[in-house]
Amino acid sequence: VVQLEYVGDLAPYAEEKAALAEVGAELTVVRAADGDAVVEAARDADVIWVEWTPHLTRDVLERLPRLGLAIRWGVGYEQIDVTAATELGIAVANAPAYCTEDVAEHALALLLAVSRQVVYRDRQGQQGLWRAGPARQRRLAGSTVGVVGLGRIGSHVAHVASAFGATVLGYDPVATSSDPGVRQVGLEELLSASDFVSVHVPLTAETHHLFDTDTLALMQPHAALVNTSRGGVVSQAALVEALDSGRLGAAGLDVFEQEPLPADNPLRGRDNVILTPHEGANSPQSGVDLRRAVYGATVE
Ligand code: NAD
Repeated sequence: VVQLEYVGDLAPYAEEKAALAEVGAELTVVRAADGDAVVEAARDADVIWVEWTPHLTRDVLERLPRLGLAIRWGVGYEQIDVTAATELGIAVANAPAYCTEDVAEHALALLLAVSRQVVYRDRQGQQGLWRAGPARQRRLAGSTVGVVGLGRIGSHVAHVASAFGATVLGYDPVATSSDPGVRQVGLEELLSASDFVSVHVPLTAETHHLFDTDTLALMQPHAALVNTSRGGVVSQAALVEALDSGRLGAAGLDVFEQEPLPADNPLRGRDNVILTPHEGANSPQSGVDLRRAVYGATVE
């Protein structure tokens, strides 16, 4: 078993190693910079876990004849060419539900932080400023919250937003909400009627740049966009343009087209934009659930 990491420090994975040793499997943890490094590290592996990049492309998978199972250590599986894996007889798995509540709570935290200007006001509080700058707080109760994607995370967000007293509109071409507080509408109606829009779709060919110049133009000038799904769902260029021109009021973002977010990224340094570095899934509880999902160990 090889665990591939790309960003951050290499974790010791002591619990995983111990649990796999019990069934006679050995875990090697490698940071691989490119496909050649993946092949080099995983030549003898039966199973690979991959965190982020580099992608398990067709070229890489074809050079791993022993591989029987490729696991995404997380929710999405855009790191793995599933079509190529299927053709090559390699099973693919992921951990789709380990952090549902965490990401939903993170989206709601961004939504509330944007609506109450929490980060902007905190900066003032830290500097000893008192009631300075434009007051752009907006009451969530009575507002309209649009939830794009009503799967695990989106339906949780919709439910809690409804409990805050917001009118909740949902858009999902497949899933239907059983929540009586959610009214399902078309995307255009959702975007034009919402004060807050929270995005919870997977990144696919269809959802890539779902939020572009045209769709962002449908939103109200005071509205806020919250994205905790995948960076590629929102065109950063279109978002920056909408914020610069005042056609969009605010944004709360946990995911970006380029991660880690470069130092000179134009989304930085704005009073009306909150940026968290793809932290939505993180909590000790989600860590336990992820390990349970990936290698079935009982971790307390
Ligand atoms: P899910 O599969 O349960 O739900 C996704 C929903 O999106 C489905 O109901 C699907 O029908 C819908 N959908 C697909 N295409 C759509 C479209 N074009 N318009 C509207 N809806 C569409 O997924 P989930 O567990 O709720 O995860 C949602 C997103 O959150 C994913 O992008 C996932 O990668 C992301 N995520 C982010 C973090 C983080 O750390 N920020 C962590 C986990 C998951």
